[in-house]
Formats: sequence, C-alpha cells, structure tokens
Amino acid sequence: MRRFLLVVVVTLLMSACSNAVDATIAPTAPQPTAQATATRASPVSPTTTSTPTPAVSPTQPEPSAQFTATPVSPTPTTAPEAQINCVSPATLTPALTAGPYFTPNTPERTSLLEPGMSGTKLVLTGYVLTQDCAPIAGARLEFWQADAQGVYDNAGYTLRGHQFTDAQGRYTLETVIPGEYPGRTEHIHVKVQAPDGPELTTQLFFPDQAANQTDRIFNANLVLTLTPTEDGQSAECNFVVLKE
Ligand code: FE
Repeated sequence: MRRFLLVVVVTLLMSACSNAVDATIAPTAPQPTAQATATRASPVSPTTTSTPTPAVSPTQPEPSAQFTATPVSPTPTTAPEAQINCVSPATLTPALTAGPYFTPNTPERTSLLEPGMSGTKLVLTGYVLTQDCAPIAGARLEFWQADAQGVYDNAGYTLRGHQFTDAQGRYTLETVIPGEYPGRTEHIHVKVQAPDGPELTTQLFFPDQAANQTDRIFNANLVLTLTPTEDGQSAECNFVVLKE
C-alpha cells in the first residue's frame, strides 16, 4: 500500500497582535491575500486532510485520478504543532520605544505573578518567528510592565522578567493586565531577540481602551485579542524578528 499525503490548507486566522502573522498556511502554499485580511476575524477550522490510496498490488499502476486535492472523509492527521499563524513573507513586528522604565538584569521566569498581586490575570502565549514563518528556538524575550494600578517597580523586579522560547519557538508569559498611567494607555513592554539576531523593542496594547486614541505610542497592529479564561484572560501574540 502506498499513501500520498496531500495537504490542503484553507485557514485564514486572526492575529493576536500583529497582522503580519494572520493565517495558517503550509510553507509551500503562501496565500498572498491573507495580508489584507482584517485582524479580528475568527479562526477558520483548519482543514488538513489526506487522501488514502486504495490497496493495490505492487505491479498495478495507481490511477492518477485518485490523487486530487479534494477533501475526503475525516482522516486523523498529525500536524497541529506544525500549524502556526503566519504568512510568509511575514512583516517584521513593529518596533516601539522602550520608554524610561526598563531595568536590566531581570530574573528568568515565565510567570510574573506574585502572591497578593492585584489585577486581572493574563496568560500570553505565542511564537517567535522569522519572516519565513520558521519558529526560532532559544529566542530571548524580556517583559516589563506597570501593575494593575499603573505603577512600575523601579527599585526591584516586580512584573519584570525574561525567558527563552522552547524548542518549538514558543513562549508563555503569566502576568496581570497593566493599568494606565499618566500619558499612557495600557501596555506591556517587550524586547525580543533571536540567538544571533538584533534586539526588537516594542509594546503590546489592549483592545477597547479609550486611552488608545490619545496615546502617541499606540500601534493598532500590536493590540492583543483577549479571550476570557476561568481565572482571567488569555491572548496569543507571535513576534516576527530578524534571525541574524
Ligand atoms: Fe510603559
């Protein structure tokens, strides 16, 4: 028996915080129109199918008509890990100012939560990617932010930390949704750097904030899409950076 696996990808997905990474595609099947899609559409169910081949004898030619890209009955496939919301060539994540409150030498940790910390819990996940949509393992991410009252810890490391993407290029951050402070809408600062790449400094924003309209640094391409969870909110955000 021989099998030919044909992958049909029809998914257009929404970006969490960058319209550079909107659609789920196969690496060999770029969808040029995806860049122009709105950033808030709901993900379409991925349709990844394979076309089983009927059993044939080794000497019997297989009719070519069997092998089409037409979706067939559900067949278990293994590809979720390979599906990343990205359209190649992806636009680099926009850079924004670091602002005055960066502190170096932060602890390495994926959770900035501490006992007694007030605010709404936020779990932020995503990939660090090249412009070819390739995940970058070992990329460094540095997060810092104000607390839920809009106050930075400029003496210590509260709500500050760095981490590295795993072997799949993925990261997870546990934190709280920051508060506004004078002149600034809600935002999280982040630096992202591939192992041999330049450092990207940018900020992430939150939807439906009145102060987004007056904040001079605000960038609509960097707004998170929040999803309610049992104990807070979650969001996905992929960063597209230069690899070297
Ligand atoms: Fe800030």
